[in-house]
This record gives sequence, structure tokens and C-alpha cells, in this order.
Amino acid sequence: MCVAERPPRVAMLGGTFDPVHVGHLRSAIELREALSLDSVHMVPARVPPHRATPGVDAEQRMTMLALGIADTPGLYVDDREIRREGPSYSTATLASLREELGTQARLVMALGYDAYRHLAEWHEPSRLFELAHVVVIDRPDHQQRLPAALEALVEGREVKNVDTLMQSPAGGLLHLSLPTRIAISATAIRARLQRGESVRYLLPDAVERYLLARRLYR
Ligand code: ATP
Repeated sequence: MCVAERPPRVAMLGGTFDPVHVGHLRSAIELREALSLDSVHMVPARVPPHRATPGVDAEQRMTMLALGIADTPGLYVDDREIRREGPSYSTATLASLREELGTQARLVMALGYDAYRHLAEWHEPSRLFELAHVVVIDRPDHQQRLPAALEALVEGREVKNVDTLMQSPAGGLLHLSLPTRIAISATAIRARLQRGESVRYLLPDAVERYLLARRLYR
């Protein structure tokens, strides 16, 4: 088969990226490799002002994400949730990607195991599976029993490998253990910054320089 005939393979990796760190970026690269994706859209969520980190706005989170991605092949900052008014529902983001990519594209919503545990509480969770596959990235520090509502939501959807997942445009669930598992969280980075401790090598140099110069998270 001619490679050009293959339907596009695209993943969305959403988050607050407050700030982006090496755990996010390394996972995005390895996700792209593991699923042979054309691109990974990293989508910063719009966060209501009362829940946002004081002193760090959406524009700054997005700038840090762009600095972190820099020229990494296949990784893109996608600002559609920041531009869209109202809450950042993943169903709306996936619907807009699906609209752009067409019905045959293999669309993936990727998320870490910690976020996955709460999937059944999201807005219209079963609609997520109409629009995309869900790929769960195992995280070293998270491994517990799933809530019953989540078990029910994903029943019958799990596939064992990438080839099976990519046979259809949406609707499957795959657990992935990426080669490099990194126990870095934005929460721990913010706490370090607040205490005046070093965050070197936890996030890209350019992101470190940006946030130190503006005294973000202090
Ligand atoms: P916080 O500590 O503020 O909750 P976070 O570091 O978990 O932040 P988010 O922006 O909430 O970052 O995460 C975006 C997505 O990336 C989520 O699906 C999350 O599970 C995943 N993720 C975050 N950190 C890692 C990591 N170290 N390895 C793999 N996936 C990660």
C-alpha cells in the first residue's frame, strides 16, 4: 500500500501545562513514536480565573509550552481551547479536530493514568469514544483500582495493541507503557519554585529561563 493513502494519525494531549515539563514533552515524543502518529497536538486548557495559578495566565502557559516544544518534530501547540469561550470540554476540542481531519482519520485522546481515573466524571464521557480512541499513558506513581463508573464506561473497548487500535477511526482504549516513565509533576515543580528551590532539568532550559525571569510561581 502507498504510504500516502494511510489515513492521518493525530493525537491530542490536553492539560493545564502549568508549567509544561519534561514528563509531558518526553511522553508526547514517545507517544508519537509508539503510535506512528503524524502529529501530537498539545492543547492547553482554558482555566477559570478563580482556579488559575495566581500570576500565571493562559498566555504565559501557552508561551512556555511553545518554548518547551521549540522545533521538536511532530509536536504542536494548539490554542483552540484558549481561544474558545467557556469551559474546555475535550469533546468540543475533539469534535473540532475531527471536523478538520475527516471521518477516516485515526484520532487519539491521550492522557496520563491519573487523569484517566476521573474520565467518567468528564462532560459527555461516552461521546469521547465516538470522536476518538483513548490512550492511557501509565505513570510510575499511579496504580490503583478503577472506579465502577469508569469500568462501565470502558467495558468492551480495550484493545491489546496499536495495530488493532488503528484499524478504526475511534472508539478503542489502549494502555501504553512508554519506554521512559518520568515521575515529574507540575505540582511538585510549582512547590519547588515557591520554596526557591532548583527546577533545573525538570523542564526545558528555555522554560526555566522564562519563568525565573518573570518570577512566576513564587
Ligand atoms: P499537576 O501536577 O498540576 O496536576 P501535571 O504535571 O499532571 O500537573 P497536567 O497539565 O495536568 O500536568 O497534565 C497534562 C497531561 O499530561 C495529563 O494527561 C497528565 O496525566 C499527563 N502527565 C503529566 N505529567 C506526566 C508525566 N510525568 N508522565 C506522563 N504523563 C504526564
